[in-house]
Amino acid sequence: MSTAQTLTALKDRLSPSDRMPLVFLGHGSPMNAIEDSAYSRAWTKLGKTLPRPKAILVVSAHWMTRGTTLVDVSAMPRTIHDFYGFPEELFRQQYPAHGAPELAREVASLLASHHGEEDDTWGLDHGAWTVLKYLYPGADVPVFQVSIDMTRGLDYQLEIGKTLAELRDRGVLILGSGNIVHNLRAIRWGANSKPHDFALEFDRLFADRLADRDFAALADRAKLGSLLQLAHPSLDHYLPALTIAGASDARDELTFMTDAIDLGSVSMRSYVFHQA
Ligand code: ZN
Repeated sequence: MSTAQTLTALKDRLSPSDRMPLVFLGHGSPMNAIEDSAYSRAWTKLGKTLPRPKAILVVSAHWMTRGTTLVDVSAMPRTIHDFYGFPEELFRQQYPAHGAPELAREVASLLASHHGEEDDTWGLDHGAWTVLKYLYPGADVPVFQVSIDMTRGLDYQLEIGKTLAELRDRGVLILGSGNIVHNLRAIRWGANSKPHDFALEFDRLFADRLADRDFAALADRAKLGSLLQLAHPSLDHYLPALTIAGASDARDELTFMTDAIDLGSVSMRSYVFHQA
């Protein structure tokens, strides 16, 4: 099934439930923010498919902390241009959504068990705004980010997802933004570059375990071994995928979209958990 067909089918199945879906998007290059691509088109279509949330909580690969899980409580999160060497047009992009300070403070308390703390210095990094601009182009839904603690194990991120899951019943859309495979050292330039075997293998393994709801296997660093190291020399782009898995439960259906490997070693696979 093509991505367009998948999304049309998803729209048919997304009932007007009060429980918000969960979304993980492989964001890839910041250029997706200003380029018309299969990804940006899929994100636009997904945005039209999703219910309108009261607020969006984003866990992005690009907000890394050590020893704390920070929650941005700012009233007006700034658009962060956290990249170098890209065209001026990309640096001019703004995503002027409001924050959700009251809810964000509550989330910091909710995550006290995971060293949740309030922060007002971050904003929206490119993991967040480059996809939000397609999902909700009006920037009219309050949004705030939660950081990833790089000092913890993989199951820690699953637990955070589980803790955040109750927000789904309160109209909060939880969005994870990273990549299922992300090895920038192994990039093969060119539009039709061949995927590395390790990229295909890890992407497939992830999709299969996710479909089986075997999240423990996805967080088993020893068992994933060298394949995980090849797919993620650094774990930042992997962790948000685990947050989203952790926030799902047996009632959710899983739909995959844009399951392509970009530049040989960046998986653009995205998925949505939604109540059946
Ligand atoms: Zn990234």
